[in-house]
Amino acid sequence: MSITSKDLLRHLPSVEKLLQPLEGTASLPRALLVHLVRQEVQVIREEALGGKEPPGFDAVVVRVRVRLESFARSRIQPVINGTGVMIHTNLGRSPLSLNVADRLREIAWQYNNLELDLDSGERGKRARFLETGLAVLTGAEAATITNNCAAALVLILRHITGGERKEVVISRGQLIEIGGGFRVPEIMEASGAVLREVGTTNRVTIADYRRAIGPHTAMVLRVHRSNFYMEGFVTEPSAEELALLGRQHGLPVVDDLGSGAVVDTHLAGDIEHEPTPQEVLAAGVDLVCFSGDKLFGGPQAGIICGKAGLVAGIKRDPMFRALRCDRLVATALQETVVEYLAYMQGEGMDPRRAPLPLLEMLALRPEDLHPRAEAVVAALAGCPVSASVGEGTSRCGGGTMPKSELPSVTLDLEPQGQSLSAFARKLRTGSPPVQGYIAGDRVKLDLRTVFRSQDAALTTAIRAAAGA
Ligand SMILES: *Cc1c(COP(=O)(O)O)cnc(C)c1O
Repeated sequence: MSITSKDLLRHLPSVEKLLQPLEGTASLPRALLVHLVRQEVQVIREEALGGKEPPGFDAVVVRVRVRLESFARSRIQPVINGTGVMIHTNLGRSPLSLNVADRLREIAWQYNNLELDLDSGERGKRARFLETGLAVLTGAEAATITNNCAAALVLILRHITGGERKEVVISRGQLIEIGGGFRVPEIMEASGAVLREVGTTNRVTIADYRRAIGPHTAMVLRVHRSNFYMEGFVTEPSAEELALLGRQHGLPVVDDLGSGAVVDTHLAGDIEHEPTPQEVLAAGVDLVCFSGDKLFGGPQAGIICGKAGLVAGIKRDPMFRALRCDRLVATALQETVVEYLAYMQGEGMDPRRAPLPLLEMLALRPEDLHPRAEAVVAALAGCPVSASVGEGTSRCGGGTMPKSELPSVTLDLEPQGQSLSAFARKLRTGSPPVQGYIAGDRVKLDLRTVFRSQDAALTTAIRAAAGA
């Protein structure tokens, strides 16, 4: 170390001195404040040792404050979603309904009957109401829940391939990656199953499956290509054909549906029909699994529905205990299922009348959004941003319905006196944060994914970011 750096280091402000002007910044608890101040001082110290001139006291305070504010923003908080992506993995996937959120609040602070049978006073079955509700909703003999759909698939594979027979027959066109590290072949390997690939990437026939079945076969697995689609010279057997093949050979057939729409998505607009657990189970498939927080519109969870014997076996696996859901998730799922069941009565499953925010969003048409966009644009008059009503394309996202592009309405914003990226950053780091997207020479905010009740907050956030 040179003498000069040593001298410079002596002039670095102490953590105690720095804390005084920073007390209370971004409402951070003191312990976090101290931790972050130390981190920044350490960075400055290393820079000084590397020969950089250390900043003066005020400049250090500014640097620490930037670090504190950036860290404070990383606290999980509401974000206004102007991306038009309805199930946005970075934004927590699907929002819950307000009814569900109210029930969560009630359950969160009080004791509850999670495992108490109120009739007998004895220990009861965990989440019995929810499991029965899910079975009724999907037309299954039985149902259960676990941490997420990846865990559901692991548990299914462990249970069915846990004996002598370990081979899982699966189409080459379904050895897919869903994103966030979910790769079907790796999940299978981690579960102790042996992959038995059949067909080619684009074509597989029932004869291919039949030929692959042998003395070591444990099950047939189908995985829904949730996040991409294949067109052209493509064939694969239907759920019915596979179910029949399974019955002929005494093998369970399992379908990982991933997205888990229980409504008829194609009724919501000009979008694809997402296979539902109801129709796949009715086709004779033994088990299905899907996510709770994709098109189902609930919390993160994996839902398993199907034959009672298989579901009971899965629940006996020691890993089931390790991957189970807590009471808050169980409550959120339970109330989501109640919402579905309540509106299911009599009618079919039309998403246009579904009581869940995700499905309401899915069913919105541009003409529903136009008046809102015009009102926000009017409220931005006189603000240093040129705002207009534009067009956009919303998507389901979260690795679901990749084909579906829904025409939508956007707020198109051109900031004055600042760059697009600076303006987008101000929106994102404001309060509440607003996430949009940049297209051409403007920042666009898709109103499909902004709740009507957020319009006022959105207007205020835009004004603030524009510097009004
Ligand atoms: C999304 C998805 C999964 C993973 O679901 P998580 O709930 O995120 O674990 C598994 N399989 C398919 C087909 C999916 O689309």
